[in-house]
Amino acid sequence: MNISIVGGGLAAATAATELREHGFDGDVVIYAREDHLPYERPPLSKEVLLGRKDVDSALVHDEAWYTANRVRLERGVAVTDIDPATHTLRTEPVGGGGAAEHRYDRLLLATGAAARHFDLADRVAEPIYLRTIEDNTRLRAALRPGAKVVIVGAGWIGLEVASAARQKDAEVIVYEIADLPLVAVLGPEVAQLFADLHRAHGVDLRLGTAVEEGALAAADVVVVGIGAIPQTELAEHAGLDVDRGVLVDERLRTSDPDIYAIGDVANQHHPVLGRRIRVEHWDTAIEQAKVAAHNLMGEEKPYTHLPYFFTDQYDLGMEYFGSVGPDGYDRVDIEGDTDVANGGAFRAYWVKDGVVRAAMHANDWDASDAVHDSVGTER
Ligand SMILES: Cc1cc2nc3c(=O)[nH]c(=O)nc-3n(C[C@H](O)[C@H](O)[C@H](O)COP(=O)(O)OP(=O)(O)OC[C@H]3O[C@@H](n4cnc5c(N)ncnc54)[C@H](O)[C@@H]3O)c2cc1C
Repeated sequence: MNISIVGGGLAAATAATELREHGFDGDVVIYAREDHLPYERPPLSKEVLLGRKDVDSALVHDEAWYTANRVRLERGVAVTDIDPATHTLRTEPVGGGGAAEHRYDRLLLATGAAARHFDLADRVAEPIYLRTIEDNTRLRAALRPGAKVVIVGAGWIGLEVASAARQKDAEVIVYEIADLPLVAVLGPEVAQLFADLHRAHGVDLRLGTAVEEGALAAADVVVVGIGAIPQTELAEHAGLDVDRGVLVDERLRTSDPDIYAIGDVANQHHPVLGRRIRVEHWDTAIEQAKVAAHNLMGEEKPYTHLPYFFTDQYDLGMEYFGSVGPDGYDRVDIEGDTDVANGGAFRAYWVKDGVVRAAMHANDWDASDAVHDSVGTER
């Protein structure tokens, strides 16, 4: 049996690992557009950007692992077409060369997401969209003392870059059209704490403000972090059901019974949340890969794991569990010391209809399990 994996990121490499660790003896092939060994992206905006760790520390496995585990890793090779009827896929080397056709028995789509582009910035600056090792290398070189850094978008990546840039003594202006950073995820109460944190560290945070051409042109480096788009083209061409991500059921199966999808690209019907959700988080890439590997081998495991997210900014580390959902929350209970710029530690619980929908802690690592376990309980 041949299990082919399209991707080459964290989700792809984790799925291959799980297949081998759980006794799958057939062929495993990963087609990876990037010419790198599969790597984790979170360090690209954190310790690798700060120069505290090298890029190799972000690799999922070293090269020898793939050989030893008989995982054929086709680097720099894009899958350009999938034909579910004949169980074939077509590949093309990114650097040019001949196309080829391959047969698969079961297929796993782990094509991830690509950074959303911002036309104005593309026209007047050569913005960095921090997604790959190459983007990281370019940004790392640009973060010098006194450099004028303009960041468009105060989402997770924008704020992590702001934190790294300030720690490198760069001058940082962040433009965000919403009235607070991260407000769509955290709500105004906790979002305000992130605004305070960045201002305390000298970031010029311009909220409710669209960036203009002059500001982009005047910057030494422009970083755009305005969201990511799931890489669904391949699935669409293959005739799979796609709607803001590749649609998968509880078991991560697409509308084709021999094709599964996981990670940033998958829009799953989540049995615990009772709705569809596409999660662009490191932990989801790993946990979905583990479940999908078993289902590719013929099991029928539902994916029930709750969304989990972490970030590091300055001295603040936080973890967030669960998901508030489209109908919002009635109240947020905040416990502890919210002065995070001065080492404060707190927990927050987002409550809807008397039940905790999501919970987080900042700098309170001993509370991690309890905060996780609170999700879904009455409060
Ligand atoms: C800078 C940065 C910081 C982050 N920080 C955090 C964090 O702190 N916490 C957190 O929880 N999450 C974080 N994330 C998100 C996390 O990295 C993603 O959720 C995770 O990488 C998703 O893994 P994936 O394998 O699904 O997709 P990806 O990592 O996007 O990998 C998909 C791969 O598939 C390849 N591909 C696409 N199409 C094809 C094709 N047709 N043929 C062959 N290959 C193809 C792509 O080139 C890519 O290499 C961060 C992301 C970035 C970019």
